[in-house]
Amino acid sequence: MSDLNHTQFTRFQLTARNTWRLAGNCCVGLALLVLGSYSSLLWAGNSAKFDELILQLEQGEVIFTSRNEVDDFTAQLKSAVPTEDPGRVLRLNRELCISDFLDKPEQGIVFASKFISELEQSRDVVNLSHFYLCRAQHYGSQNRSKEQEQDLTTALDLANQSEDDLTTALMLSSKAEMYSAHGQHADSLVLLFKAHDLYKKLGHRYGIGYSVENIATAFRRMGEYEKAIEYLDLSEKEFAAPGDKYRLGFLLQQKAFVYGELGKPAIAKQLFSRVRQIYQQIGEPTFVTATDIDMMWIANMEQRYSESLELADKITAQLASYQEKGQGQQVVNQGLFYLYRAEALAGTGKMPESLQQFEQANEVIGSLNNPRYMLWLTRAWSKTLADAGMHAQAYQRLLQANTLQEELTSQAKQQRESLLRYQFDTALQDEKNNQLKAENKLSAQQVLVLESAQRWQYIAIGLFIILALIALFYAISQIQRNRQLHRLAMTDELTQVANRRSILWFAEETRLKAIAQQQQWCLLLIDIDYFKQCNDSFGHDAGDQVLIHIAAAMKSLLRTSDRVGRTGGEEFLLVVPDLGLTEATAIAERLRQVVMQLKIPDYPQIKITVSVGVTQAGSQEDVREAMSRADAALYQAKSLGRNKVVAA
Ligand code: GH3
Ligand code: MG
Ligand code: MG
Repeated sequence: MSDLNHTQFTRFQLTARNTWRLAGNCCVGLALLVLGSYSSLLWAGNSAKFDELILQLEQGEVIFTSRNEVDDFTAQLKSAVPTEDPGRVLRLNRELCISDFLDKPEQGIVFASKFISELEQSRDVVNLSHFYLCRAQHYGSQNRSKEQEQDLTTALDLANQSEDDLTTALMLSSKAEMYSAHGQHADSLVLLFKAHDLYKKLGHRYGIGYSVENIATAFRRMGEYEKAIEYLDLSEKEFAAPGDKYRLGFLLQQKAFVYGELGKPAIAKQLFSRVRQIYQQIGEPTFVTATDIDMMWIANMEQRYSESLELADKITAQLASYQEKGQGQQVVNQGLFYLYRAEALAGTGKMPESLQQFEQANEVIGSLNNPRYMLWLTRAWSKTLADAGMHAQAYQRLLQANTLQEELTSQAKQQRESLLRYQFDTALQDEKNNQLKAENKLSAQQVLVLESAQRWQYIAIGLFIILALIALFYAISQIQRNRQLHRLAMTDELTQVANRRSILWFAEETRLKAIAQQQQWCLLLIDIDYFKQCNDSFGHDAGDQVLIHIAAAMKSLLRTSDRVGRTGGEEFLLVVPDLGLTEATAIAERLRQVVMQLKIPDYPQIKITVSVGVTQAGSQEDVREAMSRADAALYQAKSLGRNKVVAA
């Protein structure tokens, strides 16, 4: 029942509170509030100070506990703003749009509209969104719900474009509040859940608390009392700031409504008393009056009708004084007041006055277009008409009440269904997100596994390459070693010409080639003369030097196709392919002369000569036969006195 009263009250309270919070959002403790008079000294403006104040507002660090505090804070902003800085001036005007027009919605609308038309073409969607919000709230104060809804929708659209989470959260909350006031609780909750998520993401304590409270209210209005209490407790425990009496009053009042609606007037009464005390403390007499109306509701419920009527008299006096001062209209729900008074009058048997009061209540509540209020009214009215014996009229009201009840039941069903659908969709989405996360995690793990596998592959490839290089290196050195061994095996160590085995092998190759190509080839056998004497006279080393130099001299005389080899101690064999005996003899002769002129550097006194036996190999004979003929020729050269060439 109490909700009747509440909506109107809450709307103001939220508008004022939220407006302060929303637009500016709250509060340092009292100590931090510097009076406007002080700040007027800073006539030139102070950007840093201004930004700090704005930040405090946006972060929800400032809590206003009275209208005066709002005014003080606004004064500080005004004096800190650097007037030559259009950005900051605009930011100030955004705040002023609400705080300067709290009781002057008409002017507030004009003020907001001016900025809306100025900003409309700009890309400044954040500020534009805030001015739409401001205008919506002023429309709300005037009960112009169509315009209010339009502006809130625009504000939310703009906020979504802005990608500014704080602005978006604020617009979501504001639109949610409007849905809630229109009885669209599910729509309201959907937006509140989103706003709540954004505030949580931002770590904005005040926003979190604010959305939790609104979630609680929406659940209560839907009749989901357990959920409502759950969220109210959460808000009280976790988010209530000790200095914020408005918020505490609001929370307790919400709880009182829940218990009242649950048919527990004793608890509700206690809570309302505390609420009343709080509003008295913070100097909000209109809020106190509104709470007195709530107390009438409880008194009626407990059938303390005369007490209720006493309250009514007090309230009437208070309302009259507010009317004189022109305040309090938005806070107090006149319709509910008349309804409760009508009930109390009926309860004390004052039927004519009661019925008259019901007519008045009907006039006010009828203009609100709120089926819930209307239901409560028609039920109580019908009962009183029946008690007064006016059965036909009582029946009419009863029919009206039944129709309203049906409407409300089907509306509530729709709301629950749409909320369930949203929750189901959200759960599904969460499930999908979790699945996606799990998949991402899995694929991240797979990537890790793949990466490590790849690392191992690289390591394996690296090792393989190293092994291959070692093997290659080994093979190359092996080949080189073999070559060296081969060379050693085929080379005479002292003279570095072919050794006996090698030169005989070459002679055999030359023979086979000569046969195949039908070519001539020759052999020269060279023997150093009196070499024993050389050794004897100059020593073995001198002999070695002679051997080395003669071998080198012979090598230098040869064509590339010829080859010389050492066949014995001081005996050499020269194989000349592709030449006849005459040319070979000429070579032998030249050789003999070169040796004769040879000088051994270390032993210049040594004179050396050689004897040469030359022969052309016959095409039918083997190397040994040709060799022995050459040997014979050599022997003959020796016999002829040495230093001779003999061809055979
Ligand atoms: P001839 O004119 O008849 O050929 O007389 P010769 O002294 O040269 O011949 P002989 O066969 O009597 O002596 C060959 C000498 O060559 C014997 C040996 O001391 C010497 N000789 C053999 N091989 C080497 C060697 O590698 N180094 C040195 N220094 N002497 C060697
Ligand atoms: Mg000899
Ligand atoms: Mg000799």
